[in-house]
Formats: sequence, structure tokens, C-alpha cells
Amino acid sequence: MPFFTEAEPPRGVPLDVLPGIRRIVACNPSVMTYQGTNTYLIEGAEGLSVLDPGPDDAQHVQDILAGAGAPIRRILLTHTHRDHFGAVAALRAATGAPVAAYRHSARPGFTPDMPLGDGDNVAGLTAIFTPGHAADHLCFALRDGGRKILFSGDHVMSWSSSIVSPPDGDMLAYYRSLERLLDRDDELYLSGHGPALPEPQTLVRELLAHRQRREATILRQLEQQDWSVAALAERLYAKADPYLKVAAQRNVLAHLLKLVAEGRAVELEPATELPADAPQIPAPPGEVQRESGSAVTMMQRDALRRFGLSK
Ligand SMILES: [Zn+2]
Repeated sequence: MPFFTEAEPPRGVPLDVLPGIRRIVACNPSVMTYQGTNTYLIEGAEGLSVLDPGPDDAQHVQDILAGAGAPIRRILLTHTHRDHFGAVAALRAATGAPVAAYRHSARPGFTPDMPLGDGDNVAGLTAIFTPGHAADHLCFALRDGGRKILFSGDHVMSWSSSIVSPPDGDMLAYYRSLERLLDRDDELYLSGHGPALPEPQTLVRELLAHRQRREATILRQLEQQDWSVAALAERLYAKADPYLKVAAQRNVLAHLLKLVAEGRAVELEPATELPADAPQIPAPPGEVQRESGSAVTMMQRDALRRFGLSK
């Protein structure tokens, strides 16, 4: 896959990306978040917008306030995963700026001040509803002075493929949201993690092809035998890192549920009570909606779910 890498960027200061666009990379690096979450400062005719405030980190909020250089007029959110959403409350409290996000939030208890739907405009940016990685994911398109830029959030990232973790993540929606980007003519993506992505369609096409190959492999495996999510993920991914192991299971489950929705696979038995000797798994950092004990238990249960080919 034609991914990009970057050296650890300077922390705590805005880095120039393009005229009128800077980013501050939050100090939350991990196997799931790369060098950290990109918080973008976007200047426009309607003042300064902050896109994705980042994780719940007081220092990061201070860095945004210190680096802004102008009043922050609004806060934009690509999605409500905690590595993007965590700093919203503190930044909103410090600035009084309204929060613009997808109108049906996937985060319980959060309602955006400026609810956005597909195609809505906010401060010169157009919201593009792109569910898949997250149920409430928006990309934001910027068209000015001949530039064709897409803030692609975690839907398409320059450094890695995205995790699709049900039920917030939905593989069928992810496919459609990738296809949707192929119909557009954006020339540069600025993503939620990692450096800027030029010629983005090349990677979008490759991401889609990668998932289609993975899906074909899963179907071939199901032709041989029935599989539990955990066993199939082990067979296909063989990740040693415990977080990546769980991420692989989430992606495999997402593929299987897509096949079930399409009538090509069936779930063999309903998820049962967790056996007492079920292996302990850690919650992946950053990218999972809730890292509470119940979410981890849900992921353990999901790992034991079994699927077979539709007869
Ligand atoms: Zn993220």
C-alpha cells in the first residue's frame, strides 16, 4: 500500500501545512494514532476554525489557544472518537466557540451546536458524510483560489488503513464512502493522523482494492470451514502487538457482518455468555468509542462469534 511516513513532528506548536492552514500534532502517539492526532487551524473569510481539537489533554488545549493567533470562531469535528473529541469540552469552554459536527452524533450525550448534514456549508467548508470508520464521520472539502483540499479525518489516512469496528464502524458504509471519494476531484487530503496526502485517489483505490481482496480471502476461508472471529483474524493477520490483534478482530468482524448483510454469510449461533477462561484482551487506544469495561467485554464476546457460508 502506498502509505506515507513522517519523522516525529515538533510538539506544541503550529506547523505550516499550506497558506492559511496549520496543524498541531497532539502528543498521543500510538500504534493506532501514529504520531498523534492532527488538530488543524484553518483561516478563512469567516475567521479561524479549529478542526478536530484532539484528545483530552490540557497541554494540547493550551497549545491550540496559544498557537491560534486569532479568536477561534468555531470548532469542527470529523467524528466523535475520543482522540478527536476529547478536547472539545475544554476548548469550547475556553473560547465559547460553537461545535459543528454530524447532526446524529454516535457519542451518547453529545449534541453539536451546529448540526451538519451531507453537503452543508460551514465557514467555506463543505461537509461530506462518510460513515464507515465511524457512524458520524464527516470529511470537509475546501475549495478556494483553485485549491481542491479534503480534510479526510480518519476515513482516509496517509499513514495507514482505518479500523472499522462494529457497531460504530460499518464495512458496507466504509466501501460506499470510499467509492464516494473516487467520484470527487480533490487534489490533496489532510487526514486525522499522518502527513498530507497528494494524489489521494491512488490510495483510495488501493484501500478499496485491499478490502475487496480481504473479503475474497474471507469467503475462501468460509468455503473451507466455519470460523470464529478470533481464529479467522489470527489466520489472516497474525499480529503480535495486542492492540493490533484486537484491531484485526474488529476488521474481520466488520467484513463478516457485511457478508451477512449481503446474504453471503450467516452467523452460526448468537453471541453467548463469556466463558470464565476467556482470554483477557486490552482495548485498542484512541480509536474505540468507549474503553469502558463493558466495551472490552463486548469485544471479547465478539471475538468468539462464529460465522459460516450462507447455504
Ligand atoms: Zn483518530
